[in-house]
This record gives sequence, C-alpha cells and structure tokens, in this order.
Amino acid sequence: MKELVILGSTGSIGIQGLEVARKLGIKVTGLTAGKNAKLLEKQAREFKPLYVALSDENMARDLKIRLKDTDIKVLSGEDGICDIAQSTGDTVLSAIVGIAGLKPTISAINAGKTIALANKETMVTGGVIVNRLAKENGVKILPVDSEHSAIFQSLQGTPKGSLKKILLTASGGPFLGKTKDELENVTAKQALKHPNWSMGAKITVDSATLMNKGLEVIEAVHLFGVSESDIEVLIHPQSILHSGIELSDGAVIAQLGTPDMRLPIQYALTYPNRANFFERLSLADIGTLTFCKPDTETFRCLPLCIEAIRKGGLYPTAVNGANEESVRLFLEGKIGFLDIAKLNEMAMLSIKNKADFTVEDIFETDAAARRSVIENSKNVV
Ligand code: NDP
Repeated sequence: MKELVILGSTGSIGIQGLEVARKLGIKVTGLTAGKNAKLLEKQAREFKPLYVALSDENMARDLKIRLKDTDIKVLSGEDGICDIAQSTGDTVLSAIVGIAGLKPTISAINAGKTIALANKETMVTGGVIVNRLAKENGVKILPVDSEHSAIFQSLQGTPKGSLKKILLTASGGPFLGKTKDELENVTAKQALKHPNWSMGAKITVDSATLMNKGLEVIEAVHLFGVSESDIEVLIHPQSILHSGIELSDGAVIAQLGTPDMRLPIQYALTYPNRANFFERLSLADIGTLTFCKPDTETFRCLPLCIEAIRKGGLYPTAVNGANEESVRLFLEGKIGFLDIAKLNEMAMLSIKNKADFTVEDIFETDAAARRSVIENSKNVV
C-alpha cells in the first residue's frame, strides 16, 4: 500500500493527482501548496493527511486555525514543505510550479522516496545533481510529464544501446502557424487558451511560446541520458501521440492516449502495473494524426533552450529563471508575447557559467537571470 505526499496539491497536477489517489485508494499522508489555504483545508478534510504545509507563512497561520479541530499538523515556509517531503509517505508527487519545486524534491530524494516527477524545473535546473542524489539513494524517478511518461513507456523492454533518438511531440499551442507580425499584440488571455490541455497558467503560456518544449528537451536529456541532438521535436496538433522513440533498426515505438494528465499520473503511481479508470482512446474517432517540424524562427524559446543545454552548466537554470519572470510580466500585461524570448535570451547570455555547480549556485543564477529580465523589461516596452 503506497503512502503518497503531493507537493503542489492545489494546482492542476496536484488536483488531478488527488483524483487518481482517490480512484486507486492510495493513502495520502502529506499535502502542500503555496498560499491557497481554502482549497488545502478542503483537501485535508477529505484525505486526512498527517501533515499539510503552505509556503506562505501568514496563510499557514490561517490554515492552522481552520484545522484546529483535527489532528493534522500544519507546517509553513519552504522548510515546512521540505520537512513533509522527507518525513512522511513513500512516494512523492512533485507538482509545485517552477524552481520552488527543486529543494523539496531534493529533500524527498535524500530521504529515499520514490519520485513521481511533474515539476520539470527540478530536472531543468538541477538535473545533474538530482540524478547523482537519486543514484546514491537508490531512488526511482518516474516521469509524469505526458511526453516523458510516453518515452519512458516506449522504452520498457527495449535493450540498452538500441535507442537511436527520441521523438518529442508538441501540440504547437494556441498560436500554431502564426507569424511574428501576428504575434506582436497577442494577449495573455489568448495565450491561456490551450487547444487540447487544461493546465496551470505558467505552463500554458510556455506551451504557447514553445518554451515548454524547450524545457522538456532539457528534462529529457537528464531523464533518459541522451544528448539534445538525439531529440527530434515534432509538432503534432492533436496531442494523441504523446511522444516516442526510434530504435537502431528504424522501428518507431510510441505511446498514444487521450490528452488527459490523469493517465501519466496514474502510470507513475501504479508503475509497473496498469489501472483502468479513465476514458479510452478511439483512433477511429480521431481519424487523422498529423506531424510537422516546429517553426523555430518564430518561436525562439525552443532553440534557446536547446542552446542552453548544449552549453550546459548553469545556462538551463538561467533560461528557466528568466522565463519564470518574463511569463509573470507577460501575464501581468507588462511585456508583449515576443518579448518573452528576447528577455530570456538576454538573461541567458548575461550569466557567469560554471561546469560544476551546487544547489546554491543554481539559486544565485536563477536570481541573476530574474534581475536581468526585470532590468531589461523596462527597455522593451
Ligand atoms: P499550477 O500553477 O496549477 O499549480 C502549482 C502548485 O504549486 C500549486 O499547488 C501552488 O500552490 C504551488 N506553488 C506555487 N508556488 C509555490 C511556492 N513558491 N512554494 C510552494 N508551492 C507553490 O501548476 P501545474 O499543476 O500546471 O504545474 C505543476 C508542475 O507540473 C509544473 O512544473 C509544470 O511544468 C508541470 N506539468 C504540468 C502539467 C499540467 O498539465 N498542468 C503537465 C506536465 C507538467 P497555490 O495553489 O497555493 O498557489
């Protein structure tokens, strides 16, 4: 019987993770969020975990009062979240958004927990360190990102050394086929209308810029031990073929399914077994699957991430931190859609790189990249 902790339980992945836990009858022992005390209280009352935490200290005080009629312990701040990640449960669904997910995920790995990894920023920024710690602690990292879950599923049973390349698919987002001129004045509201997936705001904007695919290239490099040149990004607007692999004999193996994040979450929580709760795919109803190359001239964030992982060291951290900041500014209406890539590039090129780095270096670089975006954003408007 699994005991599950969900980091980021009030978010899109966290809520779906709880739905899967409910269906599978998994015991939930810890839940954490940023500041949404109201929803966390509701989840705590239903799942009765031992611990809950909010990163926001004031909201955590509020939650403590709300939950005082229960035995649930309420912790606060990043330390409280890290405590929960390491002290309870045997499996941790890492679903905080952004680099805020890195330290709690490392805490869970150091405590020997199995990681169901949705928080791609953990791998993007700390992939080298995270892989080393996972190896030292004998920890399994099971991908939840639908593309990486698809690659992982496709790899089951293939002999070591037979992988030729990874086929990483992308829907193309709401602005597929648009020119730079057409993208000049698009709004956050338009960017937040994803054609196939319902996700948190940050990743939805990242899907529109193709930054999400760039981050996923970096994530795949670390998860599957390949080089970025072994990954082919393909636009596949139907989001049915979630990604695949090409083997040395030319055979292509891929995983297909409905665009429903509960499926990869479920696979990570039941691996290597399968459950049967959600809608099944009807290929006859879908009819047509199409594929084409991405437009990397218009959607600059994708090649920028590929350049970051090719250069290595702290470049992926810089481009990720810059992007978190530029997406925030875009959502607040302070910069334009095309400025996101421009600001990310300026920030990435401004950092001091190190081939060997620590978690502290990651956070310093993240902060420097964010400062660069804030500074340069004053000049792009
Ligand atoms: P959401 O924005 O919907 O949810 C984020 C969660 O993280 C919330 O619980 C939020 O709490 C919490 N949180 C935010 N900031 C902090 C912080 N500083 N400290 C602690 N907790 C915090 O994000 P998603 O669920 O969309 O995405 C989560 C992760 O999963 C991301 O890394 C994303 O790239 C990845 N992912 C998401 C997919 C999806 O379909 N949504 C698909 C594949 C990957 P609060 O509600 O209180 O703000």
